Amino acid sequence: MDYGINYTWAFAIYTGPVGAFAFEFLYAFSIYAYKKLRGKADPDEGLDMFYNIGSYTVIGSLCYYLYTGLYSLFDYAPYGDWVLLVLLVALSTLFTHVNLFITFTLSRDLDLRDKAANLIRSPNWADLAKVSITNAMLAVLLREERWDMMILLFLLNYIVSLSFYSKSQNIQNKFERDKFEQMAYRDFLTGVHNRAYMDQRMKELDRSGESIGILVTDIDKFKKINDTYNHAVGDRVIRHLAESLQTRLRTGDYLFRSGGEEFTIFLRGRSYDECREWTRRRLEEIGSSSVEAEYGDQTTTIHYTVSFGLYYFTVGRSVMMERGYVYADQLLLESKRQGRNRLSAASDTSGPESSPPA
Ligand code: GH3
Ligand code: MG
Ligand code: MG
Repeated sequence: MDYGINYTWAFAIYTGPVGAFAFEFLYAFSIYAYKKLRGKADPDEGLDMFYNIGSYTVIGSLCYYLYTGLYSLFDYAPYGDWVLLVLLVALSTLFTHVNLFITFTLSRDLDLRDKAANLIRSPNWADLAKVSITNAMLAVLLREERWDMMILLFLLNYIVSLSFYSKSQNIQNKFERDKFEQMAYRDFLTGVHNRAYMDQRMKELDRSGESIGILVTDIDKFKKINDTYNHAVGDRVIRHLAESLQTRLRTGDYLFRSGGEEFTIFLRGRSYDECREWTRRRLEEIGSSSVEAEYGDQTTTIHYTVSFGLYYFTVGRSVMMERGYVYADQLLLESKRQGRNRLSAASDTSGPESSPPA
């Protein structure tokens, strides 16, 4: 249980070296026992416990002697006593970092030594102030035997750390939720959105009433690439296609990997002609591009083509997204039938000769 504040310094100043040792021993041992019982103890936990008891007792005692020695000097000024307490606690905390630095240097633990060096070079001032002021307050309350106020101080500290704990838990939960969503809605191979995400967007767009181009594309004779080379080379081609399409999208457009080597694109804010023009350019670009892939111990160059099916319509007039997707997919098959590497397109306004396939 970490309450976020170490009270050693106040107890050391109040009780002297023996009291500091007793407090440290009880404190460190109860943490050790708690972790041991819960099976959360590190292998070095016992050793760490002895180190902590030793280190805090020595520095706590130093703090006590400095306080008794310097008290008379500070007592004359108003609140001098407080100033001395705050300064000593800050100094003691810094000493514990120096102690860590020396210990890790001696044990040649370079990684931890650098971390300790960092703590000395750039201390967390807010943390230092928190520990100093709380310990100064506790020391004064101990001296004046204000037990009621002390209990309140502990209670306040405990509640504040609890509320911080639950806040950081919430942030952690949100982080994990985002990560999970990222994994659930992205395709692992290409990084573009997957079919599950596409279904969600389709439901949303069903209510939009906008004019949209649904474009489905599939790599031509892809089995041959897999068979001639191997699956890894095939994957490389799939990634190449995803990248080529992704870089040509505008804000608002969507790209999904809707099947093995099949992608679906929602082109938005465009006319039917603009959608066809966009696709024609992709046919040219992809047809004239090449993919470099590792095959065996050499690099091989692969050319490939794709076929497209485009269905352009106003969502909700008579066709919803799901049906629009089916039409686009049927138009893709039409492209395959006609010899591949081409676009077949239809729209809900383009007359009977290119009406949606039955
Ligand atoms: P067509 O021109 O008619 O599309 O011919 P095709 O050979 O491309 O036929 P089809 O689209 O039916 O073949 C798809 C192949 O893609 C079958 C499957 O083994 C392969 N495939 C599916 N997913 C992956 C993948 O993630 N990686 C690789 N390398 N291959 C995949
Ligand atoms: Mg194919
Ligand atoms: Mg296919």
